[in-house]
Parts: sequence; structure tokens; C-alpha cells
Amino acid sequence: MAAEIRLFTCLSDNFGYLIHDPGTGATASVDAPEASPIIKALDKEGWRLTDILVTHHHHDHVGGIAELKQRYGCRVVGPHDKQAKIANVDQRVAHGDIVKVGNLLARVLETPGHTLDHIAYVFDTEKALFAADTLFSIGCGRVFEGNYPMMWDSLLKLRSLPDDFKLYCGHEYTASNVKFALTVDPDNAALKARAEEVARLRAAGQPTIPTLLGEEKQANVFLRADDPEVAMKLHMKGAGAAEVFGELRERKNKS
Ligand code: ZN
Ligand code: FE
Repeated sequence: MAAEIRLFTCLSDNFGYLIHDPGTGATASVDAPEASPIIKALDKEGWRLTDILVTHHHHDHVGGIAELKQRYGCRVVGPHDKQAKIANVDQRVAHGDIVKVGNLLARVLETPGHTLDHIAYVFDTEKALFAADTLFSIGCGRVFEGNYPMMWDSLLKLRSLPDDFKLYCGHEYTASNVKFALTVDPDNAALKARAEEVARLRAAGQPTIPTLLGEEKQANVFLRADDPEVAMKLHMKGAGAAEVFGELRERKNKS
């Protein structure tokens, strides 16, 4: 039986995610922004939480862990951060580790930059990437703890996944990302198509996630920092990809 994925809003613009293995009944929450919407989503399906897969230490991703762990006695999997900023973690994972959720397998990718401890979870069989705050649709996370070359390298790891994988990211930031992207990449047909789709979805009160990684590779300017055309648009002809990426990120910060 195929895995089931549910998405819902937590806090103001975070996504909550549940991934359920019908074979074993196991259910994981990817991050835990806050407990109540996650409990509500579990109750709606009649699922019981067995695991929480944490991506990084920011409060809007870990705020619900303590309450959920107390309620369900679930296992908490988190990044292998030496400073142990995340409480209640039972299992620490590093790049290449495999996490089991029932019979589902998640592969851990270390994607530092937004934070140094940031990891993503890839369910290869389900073709699902949970990228949290490293890669957003038409954007990427702010670089708080790492540097631009580090974040660019993390984005390359995600970009190397197959086109038919779905991106499940940490926040509903797509509309604001589209607005910025159109200022630097206005002639990109894939971006323009995505802009129309996003406007339609938001007008209907629908989430813009998930989205296909293959479409993201075409439409997301932050994944195209090594495209000479993007460097040209920024008047950075000949500059390295990490440098172009840094310029994009700084412009977005100021936008
Ligand atoms: Zn964050
Ligand atoms: Fe976040």
C-alpha cells in the first residue's frame, strides 16, 4: 500500500506534514511547529503519531515536540548537532543515514546554510523531498548560520534529485518569492507559468505545495545561480555560482 501524505498549516505560514505507512500504521510528523494542528490532523485520519522527523532547531519547527512526545510517546529524530539545541531528541542522524517510519525509508541529507544543523528527509520510494527551510518553492531559506557557498552547495544536493520528486517545504512563502523572482528573472517562461498558478491557488485559498522538483529547477532562480543567463541579468558575467547565489539572496533580503 502506498504511503499517504497530509499537509496543513501551522502557526501563521508553516506547513505541518504527516506521512503515514498504511502497512504498519506508523505515522511521522515532519517537524512540529505546534502541537494542536498536528493532533487535529492525526485525529481526522485516525492515525497515531509514532515519529517526529526534525529538520533544524528553529522554534517554528520544534515548538510542538515536547507536547506531542508526552501525548504519544513517539520517537524524535533530529540532526546530529553537537550543541544539542533541540530538546527531547531520541535519535541523532547525519548525512546518508536512513530513518525508518514503519516500512517507509527516509534518507537524510545534510543541507547547512539556513542553520548549521539543517537536514532534509528524502523518501525515495514515495518521491517526496521534505526540504524545510533550505528550499522553498521559487525561493530558498535565509542564510542565518552558514555562508553563501555552503547554502549553494546544499541547494545543489537537492537539485540533484529527480525531476518527478515532489517538494514539500517548510513555509508558504511562494507568492512573495514569485514577486521577487519576477524582478530578476522576468523572461523565464516557467516562472511566469508558476506565477499564474500560484495566484490562482492563493485566490482559492489553496496551498502552493507540493510542487514538482523538475518544475522548480526551471522556475526557481535560486536553483539557477550557475546559469550564465542569470549572472548576465545581475550584471555578474563570469562570476561563480555561489557568488551569484549570494547576490540573489541579498537582493531578496532587501526586497
Ligand atoms: Zn528555520
Ligand atoms: Fe522556519
